[in-house]
Formats: sequence, C-alpha cells, structure tokens
Amino acid sequence: APNYVGWDKEIDDDFKKLTVGPVKGGRPYGKICDSALDLIGFTPMVRMSRFAKFFDVDCDLLAKVELFNAGGSVKDRIAKRMVEEAEKSGRIKPGDILIEATSGNTGVGLCLVSAIKGYKQIICLPQKMSGEKVNTMKCLGAEILRTPTEAAWDAEDSHIFLSARLAKDLGGHVLDQYKNAGNPLAHYDGTAEEIAEQCDGKLDYMIMSTGTGGTMTGVAKKLKELIPGVQVVGVDPYGSILAEPAHVNEKSNRTGQEKLTAYQVEGIGYDFIPTVLDREVVDHWVKTDDDEAFAMCRAIVRHEGLLIGGSCGSTVAGAYRFIKQNKLGKDKRCAVLLADSSRNYMSKFMDDGWMESNGFSMSKMNAAVFEKGE
Ligand code: PMP
Repeated sequence: APNYVGWDKEIDDDFKKLTVGPVKGGRPYGKICDSALDLIGFTPMVRMSRFAKFFDVDCDLLAKVELFNAGGSVKDRIAKRMVEEAEKSGRIKPGDILIEATSGNTGVGLCLVSAIKGYKQIICLPQKMSGEKVNTMKCLGAEILRTPTEAAWDAEDSHIFLSARLAKDLGGHVLDQYKNAGNPLAHYDGTAEEIAEQCDGKLDYMIMSTGTGGTMTGVAKKLKELIPGVQVVGVDPYGSILAEPAHVNEKSNRTGQEKLTAYQVEGIGYDFIPTVLDREVVDHWVKTDDDEAFAMCRAIVRHEGLLIGGSCGSTVAGAYRFIKQNKLGKDKRCAVLLADSSRNYMSKFMDDGWMESNGFSMSKMNAAVFEKGE
C-alpha cells in the first residue's frame, strides 16, 4: 500500500515550487467557451440569510457553493489541476490509463476531464458511495471497481490498495489525490483566491469539512496569507480520526455513541492522515453525527433553495455548533464551503424512504427542519 504520513517536507517543497499564483479568468458565460473544462472554478458565494434567520444565527453566514462546477463538486478543481500538472511534467499523455481511488467526486471530476481530453479512466470506489456517482462516472466512459466499505485504507481489498495494484498490472497512472500537491494547490491558487475576493478581504471564520484535506489545507494556507486573523474550523464526522486532539474522535458528545466505525455521510473523514492534509492550519475542530448532518442538508435545501450534498450538512452542522458555542454575533462573518450537489444523493438523504429505512426518523427530521433546531 502507498504510505501516507500527513504533511511533510517533501509535499511542502512541491507545493511551494508548483504554485502558479491566482488562477486567472472568471466564468466565460458572456462568450462561447471551449469545453466544460472552462466551467470548473469561479463558483458563486451566497449569503445564507434565510437559514440564519430561521436558526437564530446572528453572524453574517456565507456559503461558497461548489455544486456549480461542471461535474458538480469542489473536486473538479483538483481533477483538472492534477491532470494538467502531470501533462506539464510529461508524466501522462492522452490515450494513457488513469486510475484513482476516490469516494466519487474526484472520480466524477477525473472522468469528466478524461472524457474531454481522451484518457482511459478506471475508478476504485468503496461500496458505500452512491449509485448516482457510479452512473455519472459510467456515462462519462469510465470503468468502475467497487471495494468493501469496511476495508481499512491499507488492507489488500481497499480502494487505495487496489488502485496501486492495478496501475502496476496495467501500466496506468495513479495521480493519487492523497499525496499530489496539485490537490491543495487547486484550492490555494483557485478556491481561496476567489473566496478572499468575493468577501472583499473581510472574513473571520472559514469552516470546511475534510476528506483528503486538500480543500482545507489549500484554502486555509492562502486565506491566512491574504486575511490576517482569519480562523479556520475543521469539521470531521464521528467514525473518522482526522480531528485533533485524538480523544475527541472517541465518543459522540451528542449521542453518547462510542467508537463509531461507520457513518453514512460520503466523502469526508478517514482512518489515516493523508499527506495533503496539514492539520497545523486548523484552529478548531468540530465533530458531527449523521442525523444532524442530514437534518441540516434538508434545512439548507428547504430554506436556501441550494441543492447541496451530504457533507454540506456536516459542514453546516459543525458551523452551527461552533457559532452558537462561541456566541458569534453580528460583527462576525463566517463562510462555509459546500462541496457537492443533491444530484449525488437523490436515492439517499433526499429520499424519505431511504431515510426511514436507514434509521433517520422523518418526523424528527421535519421537526428540525420546519420547527427549528434539535
Ligand atoms: N465533501 C464531499 C462530498 C467530497 O466528496 C469530498 C472529497 N472527498 C470532500 C467533501 C472533502 O474534500 P477534500 O478531499 O478536499 O478534503
């Protein structure tokens, strides 16, 4: 299995060497664009005032809405950047086989980039991830291999191990989002620059959830350079070990549930520390549970009309708890990053039947969404 060690000197050197500065451009809606690749990045920010009013949140609450990327998630940005970096360095050329282990959104992004540029794409995906993601990737021309959800990251049947083995057997390339500097750089040069500009440099808290940690690391590093004093809040689901200090990962303070090993929210949390995650940039961690995440998803859809995905509910549940616990008032501005779209979950948290049969009571859910809070 590959070796992941958290942020180390090697990736720090790569990261500093490869930055290209602010990504230029903007949305080419006024013109004819060349391809869907031009529709990656430059996503909107939306003030969540209706949600804030409903939940008695006093601070200014903003959302960076990543579902507006061409493939429907924040991970389109890294797919494009990692492929471009590998082409620039001469490592890959159209016609080659690309293989990636992913929870689906990096997969969709890579399949989209590969479809446009002419790569063969193989995706290794844990069983847990939604059928909607699988169908999207298949239609983009990829081959999909499923692995058991419960496989530890370094076990021989994990999606990560499988991708490494296939690359060796087939002569393909793993761009490897868990250790590729292009992952955090897409957010350092892109996402964070956009956020700072859209906020006119005024932001007190940036709140994000973490999968590979590329979004967190890249956004946090650049925002801290551009906006002195900005604090970064990381959101991590129970069942994952990314949050610090380590003991906060042990038991849910809210539900009392001990040592969770599985959770339903997709795309965030891990059982190892990816190399692209620099936990030094995180000022505060918040842990979240599935039920509050899905309640928040439905509340965001219902009150803001933003058709967001499951991890967005975790991020906002974490943001809500942080804002309330720290009594953040009118003079403070918080931004959350909403990573993907409801499209990926139409048969999951968007479906009342799925919710009930997975133990999420719809009467409790509706009480949270329509009658305030928990
Ligand atoms: N939310 C969703 C739905 C995702 O798929 C991912 C990526 N796995 C993330 C959040 C986290 O992004 P990152 O890998 O940059 O930490």
